[in-house]
Amino acid sequence: MTDGDGRALDPFDEVILGLFAAGNTTSNPMGPGYPGAGETLGPGMTMGYAAGRRAVNG
Ligand SMILES: Cc1cc2nc3c(=O)[nH]c(=O)nc-3n(C[C@H](O)[C@H](O)[C@H](O)COP(=O)(O)OP(=O)(O)OC[C@H]3O[C@@H](n4cnc5c(N)ncnc54)[C@H](O)[C@@H]3O)c2cc1C
Repeated sequence: MTDGDGRALDPFDEVILGLFAAGNTTSNPMGPGYPGAGETLGPGMTMGYAAGRRAVNG
């Protein structure tokens, strides 16, 4: 799991400082569903972008 900035969370939903995740290493916002093409690439790219911004800007 991550927060909205792609920061990895521990089992207690606390941010693990310095660890970011996106794509297939993370849980998908749609859960087990796959409503259509782009369901993995879309969130992966979006959260990769968010994580990159957060990593650069702190
Ligand atoms: C045939 C096919 C069709 C698909 N079609 C669609 C589609 O139409 N729409 C859609 O949304 N999704 C589609 N997907 C799924 C989508 O491609 C993946 O969900 C997406 O690429 C995952 O991105 P990722 O960055 O999480 O992982 P990946 O793209 O798998 O990237 C992981 C990277 O980590 C590297 N790596 C692995 N181990 C290490 C290591 N130890 N050290 C350093 N690097 C390492 C790998 O070489 C790889 O470059 C498709 C997948 C396949 C296989």
